[in-house]
Amino acid sequence: MIIVLKPKVSDEGVESVISSLKQYNISFDISKGTDTTIIGLVGDTSALNRESVETNPFVERVMIVTEPFKKSNRKFHPQNTVIDVLGKKIGGTKLTIIAGPCSVESEDQICCIAENVKQSGATFLRGGAFKPRTSPYAFQGLEAEGIKLLIKAREKTGLPIVTEIMSTRLIENFEQDVDVIQIGARNMQNFDLLKEVGKTKKPILLKRGLSSTIEEWLMSAEYIMAGGNPNVILCERGIRTFETQTRNTLDISAIPVIKGLSHLPVIVDPSHATGSSKLVEPLAKAAVAAGADGVIIEVHNNPACALCDGPQSITPAVFDDIMKKIALYAKIEGRQI
Ligand code: PEP
Ligand code: MN
Repeated sequence: MIIVLKPKVSDEGVESVISSLKQYNISFDISKGTDTTIIGLVGDTSALNRESVETNPFVERVMIVTEPFKKSNRKFHPQNTVIDVLGKKIGGTKLTIIAGPCSVESEDQICCIAENVKQSGATFLRGGAFKPRTSPYAFQGLEAEGIKLLIKAREKTGLPIVTEIMSTRLIENFEQDVDVIQIGARNMQNFDLLKEVGKTKKPILLKRGLSSTIEEWLMSAEYIMAGGNPNVILCERGIRTFETQTRNTLDISAIPVIKGLSHLPVIVDPSHATGSSKLVEPLAKAAVAAGADGVIIEVHNNPACALCDGPQSITPAVFDDIMKKIALYAKIEGRQI
Protein backbone atom coordinates (compact mmCIF):
# COMPACT_ATOMS: atom_id res chain seq x y z
CA MET A 1 0.00 0.00 0.00
CA ILE A 2 1.24 3.52 -0.64
CA ILE A 3 0.01 6.75 0.87
CA VAL A 4 0.36 9.87 -1.25
CA LEU A 5 0.42 12.92 1.03
CA LYS A 6 -0.98 16.37 0.27
CA PRO A 7 1.42 18.56 -1.77
CA LYS A 8 4.13 20.29 0.30
CA VAL A 9 3.14 18.48 3.50
CA SER A 10 5.17 19.43 6.60
CA ASP A 11 7.40 17.00 8.54
CA GLU A 12 4.81 17.11 11.35
CA GLY A 13 2.15 16.00 8.82
CA VAL A 14 4.30 13.03 7.74
CA GLU A 15 4.92 12.13 11.40
CA SER A 16 1.22 12.35 12.24
CA VAL A 17 0.27 9.93 9.43
CA ILE A 18 2.99 7.47 10.51
CA SER A 19 2.02 7.59 14.20
CA SER A 20 -1.63 6.91 13.30
CA LEU A 21 -0.44 3.60 11.78
CA LYS A 22 2.14 2.61 14.43
CA GLN A 23 -0.07 -0.12 15.94
CA TYR A 24 0.22 -2.22 12.77
CA ASN A 25 3.21 -4.50 12.24
CA ILE A 26 4.51 -2.67 9.17
CA SER A 27 7.51 -0.60 8.21
CA PHE A 28 7.51 2.75 6.45
CA ASP A 29 9.48 3.81 3.42
CA ILE A 30 9.36 7.58 2.96
CA SER A 31 10.11 9.12 -0.41
CA LYS A 32 10.26 12.93 -0.57
CA GLY A 33 10.00 14.56 -3.99
CA THR A 34 10.03 18.31 -4.68
CA ASP A 35 6.25 18.59 -4.17
CA THR A 36 4.98 15.17 -3.28
CA THR A 37 5.83 12.93 -0.35
CA ILE A 38 4.94 9.25 -0.52
CA ILE A 39 4.86 6.77 2.36
CA GLY A 40 5.29 3.16 1.27
CA LEU A 41 3.94 0.57 3.69
CA VAL A 42 5.86 -2.71 3.77
CA GLY A 43 4.51 -5.78 5.56
CA ASP A 44 1.04 -7.19 6.14
CA THR A 45 -1.37 -4.32 5.44
CA SER A 46 -4.51 -6.50 5.31
CA ALA A 47 -5.81 -5.11 8.64
CA LEU A 48 -5.62 -1.55 7.34
CA ASN A 49 -8.72 0.19 6.08
CA ARG A 50 -7.99 2.29 3.02
CA GLU A 51 -10.97 4.64 3.46
CA SER A 52 -10.12 5.41 7.07
CA VAL A 53 -6.48 6.22 6.15
CA GLU A 54 -7.86 8.59 3.50
CA THR A 55 -9.77 10.54 6.16
CA ASN A 56 -6.43 11.79 7.61
CA PRO A 57 -6.19 15.51 6.67
CA PHE A 58 -2.59 15.15 5.44
CA VAL A 59 -3.45 12.30 3.07
CA GLU A 60 -4.23 12.92 -0.61
CA ARG A 61 -4.95 9.30 -1.59
CA VAL A 62 -4.11 5.68 -0.84
CA MET A 63 -3.08 3.17 -3.50
CA ILE A 64 -2.75 -0.58 -3.29
CA VAL A 65 0.52 -1.96 -4.68
CA THR A 66 -0.21 -5.35 -6.15
CA GLU A 67 3.37 -6.24 -7.15
CA PRO A 68 5.25 -8.39 -4.59
CA PHE A 69 8.32 -6.13 -4.80
CA LYS A 70 7.83 -3.04 -2.69
CA LYS A 71 11.05 -1.19 -1.77
CA SER A 72 12.39 -1.62 -5.31
CA ASN A 73 9.05 -0.51 -6.80
CA ARG A 74 8.89 2.83 -8.60
CA LYS A 75 5.45 3.41 -7.05
CA PHE A 76 7.16 3.58 -3.65
CA HIS A 77 9.97 5.78 -4.87
CA PRO A 78 9.12 7.69 -8.06
CA GLN A 79 12.57 9.34 -8.46
CA ASN A 80 15.48 7.36 -9.91
CA THR A 81 17.87 6.07 -7.27
CA VAL A 82 21.36 7.50 -7.62
CA ILE A 83 24.11 5.66 -5.73
CA ASP A 84 27.31 7.41 -4.72
CA VAL A 85 30.50 5.31 -4.79
CA LEU A 86 33.61 7.29 -3.77
CA GLY A 87 32.11 10.40 -5.39
CA LYS A 88 31.04 8.60 -8.58
CA LYS A 89 27.30 8.48 -9.15
CA ILE A 90 25.58 5.37 -10.51
CA GLY A 91 22.13 6.12 -11.97
CA GLY A 92 22.62 9.84 -12.66
CA THR A 93 22.98 11.48 -16.07
CA LYS A 94 26.60 10.32 -16.37
CA LEU A 95 26.88 6.72 -17.57
CA THR A 96 28.67 4.20 -15.37
CA ILE A 97 31.42 2.41 -17.26
CA ILE A 98 32.86 -0.62 -15.50
CA ALA A 99 35.70 -2.35 -17.32
CA GLY A 100 38.41 -4.90 -16.62
CA PRO A 101 39.29 -8.54 -17.01
CA CYS A 102 37.05 -11.47 -16.20
CA SER A 103 39.66 -12.60 -13.65
CA VAL A 104 42.53 -10.92 -11.91
CA GLU A 105 45.61 -12.84 -13.07
CA SER A 106 48.65 -10.87 -11.87
CA GLU A 107 49.64 -7.44 -10.53
CA ASP A 108 50.98 -6.39 -13.92
CA GLN A 109 47.86 -7.56 -15.73
CA ILE A 110 45.31 -5.85 -13.49
CA CYS A 111 47.28 -2.61 -13.03
CA CYS A 112 48.03 -2.27 -16.73
CA ILE A 113 44.39 -2.91 -17.75
CA ALA A 114 43.20 -0.51 -15.04
CA GLU A 115 45.45 2.29 -16.36
CA ASN A 116 44.31 1.62 -19.91
CA VAL A 117 40.56 1.55 -19.29
CA LYS A 118 40.83 4.64 -17.08
CA GLN A 119 42.52 6.51 -19.95
CA SER A 120 39.58 5.59 -22.17
CA GLY A 121 37.03 6.89 -19.65
CA ALA A 122 36.07 3.88 -17.51
CA THR A 123 34.88 4.95 -14.07
CA PHE A 124 35.14 1.59 -12.26
CA LEU A 125 37.50 -1.39 -12.46
CA ARG A 126 36.10 -4.92 -12.55
CA GLY A 127 38.04 -8.13 -11.94
CA GLY A 128 37.03 -11.51 -10.56
CA ALA A 129 39.01 -12.91 -7.63
CA PHE A 130 36.56 -15.67 -6.62
CA LYS A 131 35.28 -17.17 -9.87
CA PRO A 132 32.08 -19.21 -10.27
CA ARG A 133 33.36 -21.73 -12.88
CA THR A 134 31.22 -24.45 -14.42
CA SER A 135 34.14 -26.89 -14.16
CA PRO A 136 35.93 -27.56 -10.86
CA TYR A 137 39.09 -28.12 -12.96
CA ALA A 138 39.01 -24.62 -14.47
CA PHE A 139 40.92 -21.64 -12.98
CA GLN A 140 39.01 -20.64 -9.83
CA GLY A 141 40.53 -17.18 -9.43
CA LEU A 142 43.39 -15.86 -7.26
CA GLU A 143 40.91 -15.51 -4.37
CA ALA A 144 42.23 -13.36 -1.45
CA GLU A 145 45.40 -12.53 -3.40
CA GLY A 146 43.18 -11.28 -6.25
CA ILE A 147 41.47 -8.83 -3.90
CA LYS A 148 44.88 -7.52 -2.77
CA LEU A 149 45.86 -6.92 -6.40
CA LEU A 150 42.57 -5.11 -7.08
CA ILE A 151 43.32 -2.85 -4.11
CA LYS A 152 46.76 -2.11 -5.62
CA ALA A 153 45.13 -1.22 -8.94
CA ARG A 154 42.71 1.08 -7.09
CA GLU A 155 45.60 2.77 -5.30
CA LYS A 156 47.35 3.37 -8.62
CA THR A 157 44.35 4.58 -10.60
CA GLY A 158 41.76 5.76 -8.09
CA LEU A 159 39.17 3.55 -9.82
CA PRO A 160 36.68 1.99 -7.38
CA ILE A 161 36.68 -1.82 -7.60
CA VAL A 162 33.83 -4.18 -8.43
CA THR A 163 34.24 -7.89 -7.71
CA GLU A 164 32.08 -10.93 -7.10
CA ILE A 165 31.34 -12.52 -3.74
CA MET A 166 30.33 -16.18 -3.67
CA SER A 167 30.23 -17.02 0.02
CA THR A 168 28.67 -15.49 3.13
CA ARG A 169 31.88 -16.26 5.04
CA LEU A 170 33.67 -13.48 3.12
CA ILE A 171 31.20 -10.68 3.83
CA GLU A 172 33.41 -8.83 6.33
CA ASN A 173 36.45 -8.89 4.03
CA PHE A 174 34.41 -7.66 1.07
CA GLU A 175 32.77 -4.96 3.15
CA GLN A 176 36.17 -3.69 4.14
CA ASP A 177 38.04 -4.02 0.83
CA VAL A 178 35.63 -3.75 -2.07
CA ASP A 179 33.69 -0.70 -3.35
CA VAL A 180 30.85 -2.49 -5.19
CA ILE A 181 30.03 -6.10 -4.30
CA GLN A 182 28.88 -8.18 -7.25
CA ILE A 183 26.34 -10.97 -6.87
CA GLY A 184 26.78 -13.14 -9.94
CA ALA A 185 24.05 -14.64 -12.09
CA ARG A 186 24.50 -18.05 -10.48
CA ASN A 187 23.90 -16.63 -7.02
CA MET A 188 20.98 -14.33 -7.81
CA GLN A 189 18.73 -16.57 -5.76
CA ASN A 190 21.23 -17.51 -3.06
CA PHE A 191 18.95 -16.03 -0.43
CA ASP A 192 21.40 -16.41 2.47
CA LEU A 193 23.96 -14.41 0.50
CA LEU A 194 21.34 -11.79 -0.41
CA LYS A 195 20.34 -11.45 3.25
CA GLU A 196 23.97 -11.00 4.32
CA VAL A 197 24.80 -8.33 1.73
CA GLY A 198 21.51 -6.68 2.73
CA LYS A 199 23.02 -6.09 6.18
CA THR A 200 25.92 -4.13 4.69
CA LYS A 201 25.75 -0.61 3.29
CA LYS A 202 27.93 -1.42 0.27
CA PRO A 203 26.47 -0.93 -3.21
CA ILE A 204 25.49 -4.33 -4.61
CA LEU A 205 25.68 -5.11 -8.32
CA LEU A 206 22.97 -7.75 -8.71
CA LYS A 207 23.25 -9.72 -11.93
CA ARG A 208 20.18 -11.30 -13.45
CA GLY A 209 19.98 -15.09 -12.97
CA LEU A 210 20.60 -17.35 -15.96
CA SER A 211 16.91 -18.15 -16.36
CA SER A 212 15.21 -15.64 -14.10
CA THR A 213 12.19 -13.53 -14.85
CA ILE A 214 12.29 -9.80 -14.23
CA GLU A 215 9.98 -10.26 -11.26
CA GLU A 216 12.23 -12.92 -9.69
CA TRP A 217 15.18 -10.59 -10.21
CA LEU A 218 13.39 -7.69 -8.54
CA MET A 219 12.42 -9.98 -5.66
CA SER A 220 16.14 -10.72 -5.17
CA ALA A 221 16.79 -6.96 -5.07
CA GLU A 222 13.95 -6.81 -2.54
CA TYR A 223 15.79 -9.30 -0.26
CA ILE A 224 18.81 -6.96 -0.17
CA MET A 225 16.68 -3.86 0.37
CA ALA A 226 14.46 -5.53 3.00
CA GLY A 227 17.66 -6.23 4.96
CA GLY A 228 18.35 -2.48 5.12
CA ASN A 229 20.61 -1.90 2.12
CA PRO A 230 18.95 0.37 -0.47
CA ASN A 231 22.04 0.49 -2.72
CA VAL A 232 21.23 -2.05 -5.42
CA ILE A 233 22.33 -1.80 -9.05
CA LEU A 234 20.68 -4.27 -11.45
CA CYS A 235 22.76 -5.84 -14.22
CA GLU A 236 21.18 -7.45 -17.28
CA ARG A 237 23.72 -10.03 -18.55
CA GLY A 238 21.67 -12.13 -20.93
CA ILE A 239 19.38 -15.04 -20.26
CA ARG A 240 19.19 -18.59 -21.52
CA THR A 241 17.02 -19.12 -24.57
CA PHE A 242 16.88 -21.76 -27.33
CA GLU A 243 19.35 -19.70 -29.43
CA THR A 244 22.84 -21.19 -29.65
CA GLN A 245 24.65 -18.58 -31.77
CA THR A 246 25.38 -16.50 -28.70
CA ARG A 247 26.34 -17.57 -25.17
CA ASN A 248 23.14 -16.00 -23.82
CA THR A 249 20.44 -13.75 -25.27
CA LEU A 250 20.60 -10.12 -24.17
CA ASP A 251 17.13 -9.12 -23.02
CA ILE A 252 17.29 -5.53 -24.22
CA SER A 253 13.61 -4.98 -23.41
CA ALA A 254 14.42 -5.65 -19.74
CA ILE A 255 15.98 -2.17 -19.56
CA PRO A 256 12.87 -0.08 -20.33
CA VAL A 257 10.65 -2.63 -18.54
CA ILE A 258 12.69 -2.29 -15.32
CA LYS A 259 12.87 1.49 -15.71
CA GLY A 260 9.06 1.44 -15.59
CA LEU A 261 8.77 -0.98 -12.68
CA SER A 262 11.66 0.13 -10.50
CA HIS A 263 13.70 3.18 -9.50
CA LEU A 264 16.96 1.19 -9.28
CA PRO A 265 19.83 1.83 -11.74
CA VAL A 266 20.20 -0.76 -14.52
CA ILE A 267 23.45 -1.55 -16.29
CA VAL A 268 24.18 -4.01 -19.08
CA ASP A 269 26.92 -6.62 -19.52
CA PRO A 270 27.31 -7.18 -23.27
CA SER A 271 30.32 -9.48 -22.68
CA HIS A 272 28.55 -12.26 -20.77
CA ALA A 273 25.36 -11.67 -22.74
CA THR A 274 26.98 -12.69 -26.01
CA GLY A 275 30.21 -14.53 -25.22
CA SER A 276 31.74 -12.91 -28.28
CA SER A 277 34.16 -9.98 -28.44
CA LYS A 278 32.71 -8.94 -31.82
CA LEU A 279 29.24 -8.47 -30.38
CA VAL A 280 30.29 -6.26 -27.47
CA GLU A 281 30.18 -3.02 -29.47
CA PRO A 282 26.72 -3.37 -31.07
CA LEU A 283 25.12 -4.50 -27.82
CA ALA A 284 26.86 -1.84 -25.70
CA LYS A 285 25.48 0.80 -28.09
CA ALA A 286 22.02 -0.82 -28.00
CA ALA A 287 22.09 -0.82 -24.20
CA VAL A 288 22.83 2.90 -24.02
CA ALA A 289 20.19 3.66 -26.66
CA ALA A 290 17.63 1.62 -24.68
CA GLY A 291 18.23 3.73 -21.55
CA ALA A 292 20.74 1.71 -19.53
CA ASP A 293 22.63 3.60 -16.81
CA GLY A 294 25.91 2.08 -17.91
CA VAL A 295 27.77 -0.99 -19.07
CA ILE A 296 30.20 -3.53 -17.62
CA ILE A 297 32.68 -4.80 -20.20
CA GLU A 298 35.41 -7.44 -20.04
CA VAL A 299 38.74 -6.04 -21.22
CA HIS A 300 41.97 -8.08 -21.36
CA ASN A 301 45.46 -7.10 -22.50
CA ASN A 302 45.87 -10.47 -24.25
CA PRO A 303 42.43 -12.09 -24.77
CA ALA A 304 43.91 -15.15 -26.52
CA CYS A 305 45.74 -16.08 -23.30
CA ALA A 306 43.08 -15.00 -20.77
CA LEU A 307 42.54 -17.55 -17.99
CA CYS A 308 38.79 -17.01 -18.19
CA ASP A 309 36.34 -15.70 -20.84
CA GLY A 310 38.98 -14.82 -23.47
CA PRO A 311 36.57 -15.18 -26.45
CA GLN A 312 34.34 -12.38 -25.14
CA SER A 313 37.16 -10.12 -23.94
CA ILE A 314 38.18 -7.08 -25.96
CA THR A 315 41.58 -5.38 -25.98
CA PRO A 316 42.12 -1.93 -24.43
CA ALA A 317 42.39 -0.49 -27.97
CA VAL A 318 38.99 -1.87 -28.98
CA PHE A 319 37.56 -0.66 -25.66
CA ASP A 320 38.85 2.83 -26.40
CA ASP A 321 37.12 2.80 -29.77
CA ILE A 322 33.83 1.52 -28.30
CA MET A 323 33.91 4.26 -25.66
CA LYS A 324 34.06 6.93 -28.35
CA LYS A 325 31.07 5.37 -30.10
CA ILE A 326 29.05 4.95 -26.92
CA ALA A 327 29.62 8.63 -26.16
CA LEU A 328 27.62 9.54 -29.29
CA TYR A 329 24.68 7.34 -28.26
CA ALA A 330 24.85 8.75 -24.74
CA LYS A 331 24.53 12.27 -26.16
CA ILE A 332 21.32 11.37 -28.02
CA GLU A 333 19.92 10.08 -24.74
CA GLY A 334 20.88 13.30 -22.94
CA ARG A 335 23.65 11.57 -21.02
CA GLN A 336 27.43 11.74 -20.84
CA ILE A 337 30.33 9.36 -20.38
C1 PEP B 1 31.47 -12.20 -14.26
O1 PEP B 1 31.06 -11.05 -14.22
O2 PEP B 1 32.67 -12.50 -14.40
C2 PEP B 1 30.48 -13.31 -14.23
C3 PEP B 1 30.83 -14.54 -13.86
O3 PEP B 1 29.26 -12.92 -14.61
P1 PEP B 1 27.83 -13.68 -14.57
O4 PEP B 1 27.54 -13.95 -13.14
O5 PEP B 1 26.92 -12.71 -15.22
O6 PEP B 1 27.98 -14.95 -15.38
MN1 MN C 1 33.60 -13.43 -17.17
